Formats: sequence, structure tokens, C-alpha cells
Amino acid sequence: MNTIIEPFRIKVTEPIHIISAEERAQKLKQAHWNVFLLDAEDCAIDLLTDSGTGAMSTHQWAAMMMGDESYAGSRSWKRFRDVVQDISGMPFVFPTHQGRAAEGILAECIVKSGMIVPNNSHFDTTRANLEYVGADARNMPCTESMDTAAQYPFKGNMDLNLLRETLEQHAAEIPFVMITVTNNTGGGQPVSMANIRSVRALCDEFEKPLVIDACRFAENAWFVKQREQGFADKSLTEIAQEMFAMADAATMSLKKDGLANIGGFLVCRNEEWADSFRNLLILREGFPTYGGLAGRDLEAIAVGLREALEEEYQRYRHATVQYFAKQLDAAGIPYMSPAGGHAIFLDAKKFLPHIDSLQYPGISLVNALYLEGGIRAVELGSVMFGSFDKDGREIPSPLELVRLAFPRRVYTQSHFDYVLEVLKRVYDQRSTLQGYNITKQPPFLRHFTCEFEPV
Ligand SMILES: *Cc1c(COP(=O)(O)O)cnc(C)c1O
Repeated sequence: MNTIIEPFRIKVTEPIHIISAEERAQKLKQAHWNVFLLDAEDCAIDLLTDSGTGAMSTHQWAAMMMGDESYAGSRSWKRFRDVVQDISGMPFVFPTHQGRAAEGILAECIVKSGMIVPNNSHFDTTRANLEYVGADARNMPCTESMDTAAQYPFKGNMDLNLLRETLEQHAAEIPFVMITVTNNTGGGQPVSMANIRSVRALCDEFEKPLVIDACRFAENAWFVKQREQGFADKSLTEIAQEMFAMADAATMSLKKDGLANIGGFLVCRNEEWADSFRNLLILREGFPTYGGLAGRDLEAIAVGLREALEEEYQRYRHATVQYFAKQLDAAGIPYMSPAGGHAIFLDAKKFLPHIDSLQYPGISLVNALYLEGGIRAVELGSVMFGSFDKDGREIPSPLELVRLAFPRRVYTQSHFDYVLEVLKRVYDQRSTLQGYNITKQPPFLRHFTCEFEPV
């Protein structure tokens, strides 16, 4: 069959409304032209993030009723721990309320001021947690990832030459190496098993631990199965296990491939690390058998992690992204190609070549999508990833992307057809779009709360 159907039917519905264009213009102005500050109910299709926005299955809802809310040593904890241990192969498991809590504990326990942490690309919260303890979070994506049109199967890979160079020059200052699967920042792009193996070999050579940011490990496993030689006959679980086997620790947001609405974990093999994590976990999150989560969350996650590794689910998930990408190709709309696993990343630099990077073409495109059709997307460009030099001058990000993140199991094909129609309309008017200036910003993670004004 050519038609890949959603491998589920809908049992509970949630109404959505499209408010008028006039209302949208007014709402966006009230939100200081930052879509993070809009009310969700004013967004018709919310593609802001795939984080915690997924729909749970009947099995997950049923499991939630089995939640054991005991403070210590609950049944739900044991179910969670067993699944996480089975997939990750790591003996020490710590539940956290989100991925960033796991990152914060890792950073505070292991990383000191002045240290350097290499990664294919740090996610924004990972970077913020490392910078908060005074470390330098360095991105080392492969060169192919910088060309948004290059057809390369594993654009999430790490630049091995740059990693070697950095390890040779700064071995003493590097507490561990990280690798993010899939690489969210670089376009939701997959990382090959071969690349992870090479990173592992470099870590061995320089005696450094490897930490995996595993948020989308199941989507990555699907890409490995499809695109990398030798994996076609392996199950997604086996592929995931093979990947984790190369790491010493991992952080994860279970709001992604945990198919849950909240949750995270930190896992490791080293007992010394585990002892320090446990102490801080108790201080920040809670007792080690629940972390920052309710028993019912632990249950939903234990089921969700397994469902994320079902092939039928991944086939449908990737088919949605592929369908969208094909329509963009037909319309000539520039995006990061080939598409990644959880989102489409529009290339705002190519979409709006007349807008200067420091007038934020990504913000211009995000706002146009909201004004035209009530669609909420997010900028991954100079607002999110720009930095400042010693003299306080703003340095733009090398890429100006706009992410249309696909919540898991939430929207149907007609929702995506609507998004495509809006996108085509915005593309037709692109020469009339204008840039924005920032009028107010906080020192960290500015994209969440900063305010804009049209140029
Ligand atoms: C979402 C995400 C995080 C942070 O997780 P939260 O649950 O949002 O705190 C870290 N790394 C990557 C790659 C992510 O996508």
C-alpha cells in the first residue's frame, strides 16, 4: 500500500478554533510579537514544540490508573526503572521532572567553571545549564549540516576532526563529550551509529566519558535502521541498546520519545557519578525513586518508551514529515533537506534574503505564519542561538531556521494540509515581510520572554 495510515484511531477529541485575522494581529501585538507569549487557545495549529505535546495511548492512560504514589520504592518506580535499564543498559537511573533537570544535575555535579563541553549541537537548555556553571558549551556539527540543501543521510553527525583537535588542545578542561540524538538544533537530523562509534573511540583515546542527550533516540534508531548499512534487520530496541552501550551516561527529556507530557531521566554507569547525582536529585527533584514525577507519570513513561520503539509508530511518524517535505519541494519553499525526524526546519535566510540576520528573519517568518493562519512555529536562529562578543556586540547564528515541530500522534493529514496552504500564501507575499528589533531581553534563554517590535 502507498498510503501509510495513522496506526491509531481517535477516541477523545479536543476542539480547536481559528480566531479572525484582526484578532490575531491584536493578540500578537499584545504578546510583543513573541509567539511564546501568546495564549495557546489563540493558536489554531500549535507547532511550537514536540515537547510534552504528544497524545497518549489507551495503554498509557490505563497504566496511569495503576500509578503507585508511595513516596519511596513504589511499584511504578520499579516499572520505570526496569524499562529505562533495559533500553539504556545503565544500572543507575534517576527520574527527573524534565530533561533540563537532568542536565542541571549533571552540570552541577561534574562540570566546573572554565571547562569545555563538546557536543554535535547543544540544545538551548543544555547550553544554558553548562554556561550557568561557567563552562564553554561548544558545538561541533559536521560540515554537511551547514548546507541546508545538501543531501546527506546523517546530517546530525559530529565533526570528528574538530572534536579530535579540541581534545588534543584542551584535554584537561574537558569533563566529558556529549552527543545529541537526533540533533535538534541542526535540524532534527540523525546521527549515525558509525559516528557515535567514532566519537566513543576518541573518548577512549583521551579517557573521557561520553554522555548522550537521548531525547529522540527512537526516531534516531528508525533513521539508522533505514539508512545505515547492517541495521535493516535489527529491531529499533536493539538499535537503541547498541547506541546506549557506547555511552557512560545519558540525559533525556521524556516529553519527546518518552511519549509523555512530562518527565526526564539521568542515567549512568559510574557509581561515583551516581552518588553525587543522587544527593543533588534529593535536594532539587525529590526522593530517588520518584525524582520530580508522580507515580502515574512513571507508569505512562514506562509504556511510552516501549511504544516509541514500535516500528508501526515510527513508520507513520516519519511518513508525516516526508509528506510535508514533498509538498514543500513541489512549492519551492526552502527548508533543511533532507527533513529530520520530528520537525520541518524552514530556511528563513533563503525564504527572506532581504532581512538582515540581526533583524531576525526567523521571527519575521514565525510571525507571518501566525498572522496568516494562526499557526505557531518557533525561531531557531539568531534570537535563540546568537551570542555576544567581549564588547557586547551581537553575533548572529550561522543558520536562521524556523521549526515547525510535529507533536506526536496529535494532528492529522488535513491539519498539515492547512499548514501547507498557509505557508504557500506567506511564501507568495515574502517580499513584503519585514524584520524585527528586540526591545527587551533577559540574560539567559532570551527567546522565551524577549519582546520585539517590527522594524
Ligand atoms: C527538549 C530537549 C531538552 C530539554 O528537555 P526538557 O524536558 O524540555 O527540559 C534537552 N535536549 C534536547 C535535544 C531536547 O530536545
